Amino acid sequence: PNIVEKIAAGEVVERPASVVKELVENSIDAGATKIAIHVEGGGTKRIRVVDDGCGMSEEDAILALKRHATSKIKSEEDLNRISTLGFRGEALPSIAAVSKLTIITKRKEDLVGTKIHVEGGEIKNITSIGAPSGTSVLVEDLFYNTPARRKFLKSERSEFFQIYSIVEKYAIIYENIHFKLVHNGKEVFNLPPSNLKARIARLWGKEIADAMVEIKKSNRMKIKGLIAKPYQVRRDKNKLLIFVNGRYVKSRIIEDALVEGYGTLLFRDSYPIAILKIQVEPDEIDVNVHPAKLFVKFKDENRIKKEIANLIWNSLTKEEN
Ligand code: ADP
Ligand code: MG
Repeated sequence: PNIVEKIAAGEVVERPASVVKELVENSIDAGATKIAIHVEGGGTKRIRVVDDGCGMSEEDAILALKRHATSKIKSEEDLNRISTLGFRGEALPSIAAVSKLTIITKRKEDLVGTKIHVEGGEIKNITSIGAPSGTSVLVEDLFYNTPARRKFLKSERSEFFQIYSIVEKYAIIYENIHFKLVHNGKEVFNLPPSNLKARIARLWGKEIADAMVEIKKSNRMKIKGLIAKPYQVRRDKNKLLIFVNGRYVKSRIIEDALVEGYGTLLFRDSYPIAILKIQVEPDEIDVNVHPAKLFVKFKDENRIKKEIANLIWNSLTKEEN
């Protein structure tokens, strides 16, 4: 890859966890019901993400490795109505530019699958291969050709922790998808499809799960989730997770709304354990504000804030149903 491609790749692929994030998002976008993530050496040695999603034809798989060749946006207007997690067509080519990448993919309707091997962005090999329906992406030796980036990686433990946090978040938002995470051959978690509370019990323990109440339904906005009863609070925001349209986001507005909703039930300088899954029309938000797609901006912040604060208070204080 040339220097421009390497810089562009660096924006999407900062560390092993960003690779895992992009690959898992692709699996979710592909309609997978099961996603297995195998990691070695904190992800620097290898990352393999296997899904049972829609797969790709040989032609599409080759195209997917080209920059901006996304299949998810067909027109200008689509840009304002993004409903898939990916939309830039940058992840696969960016990852491929800084690693040794092997895709094996097969659609249900095809008799054979396709295997493509890429090194440093260059396609080395395309073969037909027997494979189950779905896609498996293997990423080896991340940053082998960008030593400066490789130098910035932290310890194996720390890199793996970031991978864990990302997979955990997708496991929480997509509780109906089977997620499996393996590090250095050791199963970290294996979560069959379930409901949110059961999944939280598996991830955070039964005690926390039992101390959470469901957010009440609202007719003014689509929101689902669990919030901790006031005695289950934290000094940090590690267990305060906000998801908008299937995407983990940071949002000061929503955090403030949450704290406001607890009102006097919350101690000063503490945060509730909470999972908020908000669904809005794609054109009510701007997710294009950051390449990592982490920060989200609502167009009508005041309305959202007020609605959520009310809902939280009602869910905590008005028992019934
Ligand atoms: P984006 O997700 O922004 O479209 P990516 O570079 O992540 O771009 O992926 C490029 C394209 O490759 C996707 O649009 C999709 O068509 C295809 N693709 C990638 N991963 C998978 C997968 N796991 N299953 C099926 N198709 C995939
Ligand atoms: Mg993608």
